[in-house]
Amino acid sequence: MSDSLDQFAQAKLDGLEAKGLLRRLTVTERTGPIEILRGGRKLISFSCNDYLNLSQHPAVKQAAKDAIDRLGVGSGASRLVTGDHPLLPELESRLARLKGTEACAVMGSGFLTNTGVIPTLVTEGDLVLADEWSHACIIVGGRLSKADQHLFRHNDLHHLRALLEKHRAAHRHCLIVTDGVFSMDGDLAPVHDLAALAREYDAWLMTDDAHGIGVVGAGGRGSTFAGGTKAEVDLQMGTLSKAVGGYGGYLCASKPVIDLMKTRCRTLVYSTGLPPATVAAAIAALDIIESDPEYAARPLKKAQRFTRRLGLPLAESPIVPILLGDAARTMAAQKTIEDAGYLVVGIRPPTVPEGTARLRLTFTAEHSDVDIDKLADLIADKILTGEEPFRASS
Ligand SMILES: *Cc1c(COP(=O)(O)O)cnc(C)c1O
Repeated sequence: MSDSLDQFAQAKLDGLEAKGLLRRLTVTERTGPIEILRGGRKLISFSCNDYLNLSQHPAVKQAAKDAIDRLGVGSGASRLVTGDHPLLPELESRLARLKGTEACAVMGSGFLTNTGVIPTLVTEGDLVLADEWSHACIIVGGRLSKADQHLFRHNDLHHLRALLEKHRAAHRHCLIVTDGVFSMDGDLAPVHDLAALAREYDAWLMTDDAHGIGVVGAGGRGSTFAGGTKAEVDLQMGTLSKAVGGYGGYLCASKPVIDLMKTRCRTLVYSTGLPPATVAAAIAALDIIESDPEYAARPLKKAQRFTRRLGLPLAESPIVPILLGDAARTMAAQKTIEDAGYLVVGIRPPTVPEGTARLRLTFTAEHSDVDIDKLADLIADKILTGEEPFRASS
C-alpha cells in the first residue's frame, strides 16, 4: 500500500477543512414528494431538483416496475451491442417532439452527455466559447475536446462578440455553449441573441437545459421556448434527472448530428444503455408533463411567490439563490433553517465562484404556499437581518 497516496489525500482534505470547504455526504431518505428524512428528522426540502415531484409519482413508479417485469433490471450492454431496448427509441422520439427537433440521443446522464457530445463535435483547431457560469460538465467536456476554450462573462453578449472577433477566424469550427437555465442562479440565457450571434459568426449553439425541461417555456418545453417563440438552438442537451424525476441525459438535434453521436460519442458508444425502468419512468413523466401544462408551470409560480414576498428580483425559473458570500455564514444559515424544519442546502466554492456562497432554493409543484411564506419570513427575520442589503446575483 502506498503511504504517499494517503498522505496526499489527507493533506488535500486538511486544506479544504481549513477553508471551510470540505464537503460530506449526508444520507437522506426521500419519503414523499417534498419531505425527506435526515438524521432521524423529517424536513421539508427546498433543495431537490425534482421540480414536478415526479420521482415520487405513482404512475411514474408503476411504469418503472412494469418495465422491470417486462425487460429486466439492466440493459446488459452498450446500446450499439445489445443494450438498445425498445423503450430507448420510444423515449428519444418523445424528447425530440417536446424539443421540436428531428432526432434525439439518450445516454447515461447529463454529465456524460456534455462530456461525450462536446468532444464529438470539436477538437484541436476548433474553438469553444462557454458562459463562465456554465455547469462543470460543460467545462470538462470542452477540456476533453482539446479545442481552444474561452469563457465569456455571464450572459454578456458584448464579451462573447469580442471573443468571436478575436478568435473565430483562426479556428475551423466554433461551438458556443451555455446553460439555458443557470443551475446555481436560476436565470436564463439570452438564447435568441446567442442564436443570432452564432449565425453571424458561423458558430454552433448548444444549450444545457438541465433545469429547463419540464418547468420553463410553455408546456415545459425548456429555455429554447421561454421567449414564446422557438430560438434557433442547434444542440439542446439536458437531463432526465431533474424535473423528469429519474436519471439519464439526452441531446436533441438534427438527424445527421444525432446519427453522428450514435456512432462516435464515446459516452454513448462505450457505456451501457440506460436500464429499462429508468427509461420507462422518463416516458411516463413526459406523459404527465405534456398532458398538464398547468402542472408544469407550478414550480415557477411558487418560486415567484417566494421572490415577491422577499422583494428579490422575480424568479425566472424554479431556482432562487440568496447570496450570502461567506461559506461559514452560508452553512450557519442552512443550520438555522434546518432547525425550523426546512432543508435549504448551502452552496460553496468551487461549485460557485469565490465569495458567492449562497443558499440555493428550489421550488416544486407540491410545495404549499404556507410553507413558502413561512420560509421567506424566516429568511427575512433570521438570515437577512437588515444590516446589509441582500444581493441577488442576476
Ligand atoms: C445537473 C446538471 C447536469 C448534470 O446532469 P446529471 O444528469 O445530473 O448528470 C448538467 N448540466 C447542468 C446545468 C446541471 O444542472
